[in-house]
Amino acid sequence: MSIASINPATGGVLKSFEALSDQQLEEKLGRAAEAFHTHRRTSFAERSLLMLRAAEILEAEKKEFARVMTLEMGKPINGAVSEAEKCALVCRYYAENAAQHLADEIVETNASRSYVRYQPLGVVLAVMPWNFPFWQVFRFAAPALMAGNVGLLKHASNVPQCALAIEDILRRAGFAEGVFQTLLIGSGAVRKVLEDPRVVAATLTGSEPAGRSVASIAGNQIKKTVLELGGSDAFIVMPSANLQEAAVTAVKARTINNGQSCIAAKRFIVHEQIYNEFEKLFVEAMENLRVGDPLDESTDIGPLATGQILKDLEEQVQVSVAAGAKILTGGHKFKTDGDLALGHFYQPTVLADIPKDTPAYRDEIFGPVASLFRVKNIDEAIALANSTEFGLGAAAWTGDEEERDRFIEELEAGCVFINGMVASDPRMPFGGIKHSGYGRELGEFGIREFVNVKTVWIT
Ligand code: NAP
Repeated sequence: MSIASINPATGGVLKSFEALSDQQLEEKLGRAAEAFHTHRRTSFAERSLLMLRAAEILEAEKKEFARVMTLEMGKPINGAVSEAEKCALVCRYYAENAAQHLADEIVETNASRSYVRYQPLGVVLAVMPWNFPFWQVFRFAAPALMAGNVGLLKHASNVPQCALAIEDILRRAGFAEGVFQTLLIGSGAVRKVLEDPRVVAATLTGSEPAGRSVASIAGNQIKKTVLELGGSDAFIVMPSANLQEAAVTAVKARTINNGQSCIAAKRFIVHEQIYNEFEKLFVEAMENLRVGDPLDESTDIGPLATGQILKDLEEQVQVSVAAGAKILTGGHKFKTDGDLALGHFYQPTVLADIPKDTPAYRDEIFGPVASLFRVKNIDEAIALANSTEFGLGAAAWTGDEEERDRFIEELEAGCVFINGMVASDPRMPFGGIKHSGYGRELGEFGIREFVNVKTVWIT
């Protein structure tokens, strides 16, 4: 089986790799298990030095890494540079805070001394998506390695060069051989790795079906999992909001990363008093976006990452429109020529009057397509926002304190952003509820996912 790196802007094959043979996979698993024995005994101070070095490499070579990301999956180059910078940030965060997050915690009991100790679990498998090909991996690797665990990366099959670049960064930073390895394997080989007794836990970021599959294999093996799955985040706008700012942020929140973000705002729920004005501002701003070559710094929207994603998106829009949804702008492939003629481009699109039980109402839309909804009051807004299987993030725009408190209390999501756009931050926990998954990444919660919380009782 070969794993190909294809430029989604041109359709050209960049590089192909042979998937690991059984023998090679066995060697890597053995190396990981061996590496754990020594890595777990290194001190926080030693690991911290290496993690800071990884941050320095990411910062020094951010332009080169950004180019690899953009060429492999099509994100606009400015976003790719920011992604490399953010990876450096998460490395620094855990280099500086891991020791404190995992320090012994004294608990007063009737023992002469009792406390909680956090210890690494072992070899953790990370199954990762292509949409933030560096960030998703570093937000797993930085806490996992700092906690003393060892990582195995099964990256999405369309970003093998990113996967190998990340292994190389951590190796150059000084982590011992086997502490972090990339496995070039297809998703069919994940079961074998997960069922191997040397692998003790798994984290998956990706779609719901992939999450179900990995969680059920791991569950059968009694191995812990963290799942970061899809989202259909609501972006609510109330009359007391700053409308201009809300509309500009809404467009960014929908179209960041070419619309392929789990926490992209996907459903825009707008109070009827300001609906028409918001719709006008929003549609205008969507129409002003520049679609084109993602390597060009002035491009807002590049191609979708694969031909299949483009096809799925076209179908979701067509089915929704056939059922009665109205297209306010866009609605079709974006026509390109020259080198980009075979690229997977789609027009920034806005849909309104969307019937229930259509993809635009119900499903996760992964591309630059926004769904607008009109509501009469806050009760309707909250009910609509919560009427989804997902529960990743939510944003609400309001100048009213009472409304703000209701949104914070009642929105069913792993995070709520008031007057802002949902984003991740190394210092704050990140994750979802409902079908968006379970467990948390980032912050103190993230580093405590793959540790043994050991009770120590001394009489
Ligand atoms: P995907 O198709 O589920 O792929 C994600 C990873 O899972 C890839 O490495 C893929 O490998 C692997 N995979 C797929 N099916 C599998 C299976 N049955 N068993 C084991 N592994 C399997 O998702 P995607 O299209 O790359 O990513 C988009 C999805 O990720 C969206 O739903 C998005 O919302 C979600 N996401 C969530 C977060 C979050 O933090 N919650 C962040 C980013 C993205 P192959 O490539 O080899 O198939």
